[in-house]
Amino acid sequence: MWVLHSVTVMNLKSSVAAPFLLVLLFLTSCVAPIAASANNAKKARYVAELEPPSQYDHPYDGLVGERLMPVAETRVICDSLGASHSSADAPGGVACAWVSDNTCFIILPDDELAPVDTYRRHEVAHCNGWPADHPHD
Ligand SMILES: [Zn+2]
Repeated sequence: MWVLHSVTVMNLKSSVAAPFLLVLLFLTSCVAPIAASANNAKKARYVAELEPPSQYDHPYDGLVGERLMPVAETRVICDSLGASHSSADAPGGVACAWVSDNTCFIILPDDELAPVDTYRRHEVAHCNGWPADHPHD
């Protein structure tokens, strides 16, 4: 009697646990790809936001002075320039741009989330007159 009883309890337990385990398996096998694609979507949205409007998205008509450096340095330089120059994306930006003597100066990070070319187009667009508050129309 006792043995039978205990078998019944075991069977009950495993029949309750089985669907639960399936759900767990399903969740763990799905969470990783979802997290990865959410990151990709976030990055794609970030890169898309950096895209300048088409009227500013062209080469600068003049000399371009460009410096590439780690983002830790671009932040320091762009912050310090923000105080004395009329510059875009400073303070707090990872890149910045300003025009002086008909020359477009841009400071770009080479270790940030978006490709360097994306930051270059963004900052050159500021030299082309794109306002610092990034209007998109
Ligand atoms: Zn900007």
